[in-house]
Amino acid sequence: MEQHGDERAMSEMACTETEARSDETILDHLFRPMGVDGVYARTRRYEDVVDALQWLITRHRPQEASVFRFPPVMSLRQLEKQGYLNSFPQLLGCVCALHGSEADVAAAVDRAKQGEDWTRGATSAGLVLSPAACYPIYPIAAENGPVPEEGLTFDVAADCFRHEPSKDLDRLQSFRMREFVRIGAPAQIAVFRERWMKTAQAIAESLQLPFAFDRASDPFFGRVGVLMAANQIEHALKFELLIPVRAQGAPTACMSFNYHREHFGKTWGLVDQKGEMAHSGCVAFGIDRLALALFATHGLYVEDWPRDVRDVLRLD
Ligand code: ATP
Ligand code: ZN
Ligand code: MG
Repeated sequence: MEQHGDERAMSEMACTETEARSDETILDHLFRPMGVDGVYARTRRYEDVVDALQWLITRHRPQEASVFRFPPVMSLRQLEKQGYLNSFPQLLGCVCALHGSEADVAAAVDRAKQGEDWTRGATSAGLVLSPAACYPIYPIAAENGPVPEEGLTFDVAADCFRHEPSKDLDRLQSFRMREFVRIGAPAQIAVFRERWMKTAQAIAESLQLPFAFDRASDPFFGRVGVLMAANQIEHALKFELLIPVRAQGAPTACMSFNYHREHFGKTWGLVDQKGEMAHSGCVAFGIDRLALALFATHGLYVEDWPRDVRDVLRLD
């Protein structure tokens, strides 16, 4: 495990529970409830920081990157094709709608009026709520033919959904994810990931956020999932940058650095000019978690944040 940053500050942060910055206070100050755990209305003071973070990341965008902004939904077929149901079926949310004739729809509405569950009559609209921002980019990249020698770089973002309801302020069901994605030869992905781990460290330092890097694994589903997670750790396929966000408990993964090997290349037929399977990797910024980390670290009032941090974010 690699350690960077001020670990002492980090452990102090993780243990302090001052009245001013308790998780409940942060939630009350920045969000309004919407009736479901992990789904919140965001206030202006929060969104101003979210916007500032997005711009900060944009200023670090590789010049050659193609930019795409995705809607919060994507094709169910595409997600199935890449094997998501074998990995994280427990997190997936799918969009259902009332199909059929006017009479069928009216019958469902009547059921609702009688206090019954009308959604039982709803069936798949062929869409899922995107669980990660980068998933739709691979089929788009594959449409353009062979991957050029210099590889491909993308800047993507989406509102993501994961069915992991929680009262913890850092575990949302609906959250914003921004990613830089690299497609190319294995060595190109390695260089990309290495560089981004350095840049991420510099960004965290400039924001005066205490952080640490760690190898990580995803919560793959079921018994096979345990093996998949062990394999991920063994081959160092995923690193996370962790920052204390909650007053109590472990620090939170605010960015991740992922190497997918040839997973998406194989799924979508992404090959280079010589027919070699393309590899891919991504760096993901959990925008909401980064914003929450800033409030948890520097306080509820942006006006009181360190001058240098406000300058980096261009918040004045
Ligand atoms: P965790 O281990 O905390 O569940 P993760 O490994 O599932 O995180 P990734 O799949 O790597 O996270 O997602 C990329 C980024 O999206 C994360 O680094 C994090 O910042 C953010 N993210 C993931 N899940 C959530 C969530 N439930 N709420 C808010 N942000 C999230
Ligand atoms: Zn990704
Ligand atoms: Mg997770």
